[in-house]
Amino acid sequence: MYDPLLDPHPGQGQPLPNSYWADHSGTAPLDDGQLQQDLTVDVAIIGAGYTGLSCAYHLATEHGVKAVVLEANQTAWGCSGRNAGFVLKSSGRKPYSVMRSQYGEAAMHGIYNEFCAGLETVKALIATGIDCDQQDAGYLRMAHKPSMIKTLQQQASLLQKEFGYQVELFNRDELHQKFVADQHAYAALRFYDGFGVNPLKLAWGYQQRARQAGAKIYSASPVTQWQQDGEHQLLITPQALVRAKKVVIASNGYTPKLLHSGVQERTLPVLSQIIVTEPLSDAQLAACNFLTSQVIMDTRALKYYYRKLPDNRILFGGRGAITGKGADDPYFARRLLDVLKLSFPALQQLRYDYSWSGWICMTLDDIPHLAQADDKGQVLYSMGYCGSGLTFSVQAGKRLAERLMGLPLPQIPLYQTALPKFPLPALRRLGQWGYFHYGMVKDRWF
Ligand SMILES: Cc1cc2nc3c(=O)[nH]c(=O)nc-3n(C[C@H](O)[C@H](O)[C@H](O)COP(=O)(O)OP(=O)(O)OC[C@H]3O[C@@H](n4cnc5c(N)ncnc54)[C@H](O)[C@@H]3O)c2cc1C
Repeated sequence: MYDPLLDPHPGQGQPLPNSYWADHSGTAPLDDGQLQQDLTVDVAIIGAGYTGLSCAYHLATEHGVKAVVLEANQTAWGCSGRNAGFVLKSSGRKPYSVMRSQYGEAAMHGIYNEFCAGLETVKALIATGIDCDQQDAGYLRMAHKPSMIKTLQQQASLLQKEFGYQVELFNRDELHQKFVADQHAYAALRFYDGFGVNPLKLAWGYQQRARQAGAKIYSASPVTQWQQDGEHQLLITPQALVRAKKVVIASNGYTPKLLHSGVQERTLPVLSQIIVTEPLSDAQLAACNFLTSQVIMDTRALKYYYRKLPDNRILFGGRGAITGKGADDPYFARRLLDVLKLSFPALQQLRYDYSWSGWICMTLDDIPHLAQADDKGQVLYSMGYCGSGLTFSVQAGKRLAERLMGLPLPQIPLYQTALPKFPLPALRRLGQWGYFHYGMVKDRWF
C-alpha cells in the first residue's frame, strides 16, 4: 500500500480500494480524465477528496473562479472514499476543555461555531440533491469502562454550559434497551445532530456539483514535480503541466513527503482500519438488541467506532498497521472482528466480507490547520483532521476559497497558525508505536 512517508506520490490512476463503499455505490460519475495538455490557470488544487472538491465547488459558485483539480488516482481514492461515514460536528482530537485552557474562552467558542458551520455546509450540500444513503440522526459516545462515565458527565456539562448544546446521557440499561446491547458500553452520551452516510457517494456528489459549476477534475494526474516559474507555480504531471497563480494542497494524510517544503514533516499519517461484516440475520440483531443505526464511537484513547449499515451489516473500525507495508496483513481485520465479538458475544459465528484501511492525518497539536505553505501566500493548504474530517474538510474547502480571494477568515487557531513541525520527524513512527502501547495500557487499566 502507498506509504506517504516513503513513496514519492500515491501512484497513477489506481482503482478504488476493494471496500464496501466501492461495491455499494453504483458507477462513478464522469470526471475530466487524465490531464493531457499544458494549462495556465488561476487556481490549481492537488487532491480530489472532500477538501479539494469543496474548495473547487465554492470557488466556482461563490467567487466565479473555475479551478483545476489534479488527482493522482481518482476522486475519493484517499480518505474521502474509505472513511466510516460519520458526519460529526467536530474535527481534530483536542477536547474543548483543553482548547479553553490553551487558547482561551473566545477561541474555543470560535472553533465550536466553525464546527457548527461545517455541519450546516455539509447539510446544505446534501440538500442540493446528493443521494448518500443518509441514516438516522444521532451519535452515541460510549463509555468503554465505568470510570469513563464521569468523563461523559463532564463533557455533557461543558457542552451545556459553554454552548447551550444539550446532549442526553443514558445509563447502561437505557442504552442496552433503547439502542444496542454492547457489553463493553457502560453509558453513552447522545449527540442529536450526527449521522451516517455513504462517504463515497457523498464525494461523488461533490464532484458532480463542482464540475457542474465549471471546475475541472483531472484523474490519473499525480503531481510528480513542483517548480517555481517566476510568479507561477509549475505542477508537473506525467503527460502535461499546469502553470498556476495559486495552488491549494488538499492531499491531507496522502501528502507525499517531498511534495512541498511548507507541509513537510508537519503531519503523521496513521492507518485506520475498517471491516464490514456479512449482513446480520433478524435473530442476530435481536440477540444484540441492535435497534439503532446511529453512529457510535467509544471513549478509548485508541478508539473503536461502528454503525449498522442500511443492509444490516456492521461497519467496525479501529487502528490499523503502522506502515503501508503492513496494511494488508489480515491480522488487523481479524483483531477488529475479535473486539466486535467481545462487545456482542452472540455474534461468535459472524464473518466479515470487506476489510480496508486508509491514512488519517495526525498533527502535533491535535487540530487541523488551514495556512499558507510559502512566504507569498501563493500556496495554501488545509489538513490534519486527525481522523475526523468528513464535515470540517468541506468547511475548510469553503474557507480556502475565501482565503484565495483575499477575504478574512474567522480569527481562530485553525486558521491563524501553520501546522507545527514534528520534533525529530524521522522518529514519528517510533513515537506512534510508543503511543499505541501507552494507549493500550491506559484503555485497559486507567
Ligand atoms: C478508515 C477511516 C475512517 C474514517 N472515518 C471518518 C468518519 O467517520 N468521520 C470523519 O469525520 N472522518 C473520518 N475519517 C477521516 C476523513 O475521511 C478525512 O479527514 C477526509 O476524508 C479528508 O479529506 P481530504 O479531501 O482532505 O483528503 P483525502 O480524501 O485523503 O484526499 C487526498 C487526495 O490527494 C491525492 N493526492 C495525494 N498526493 C497527490 C499528488 N502528488 N498529486 C495528485 N493527487 C494527490 C490522493 O490520491 C487523495 O485522493 C476517516 C478516515 C479513515 C482513513
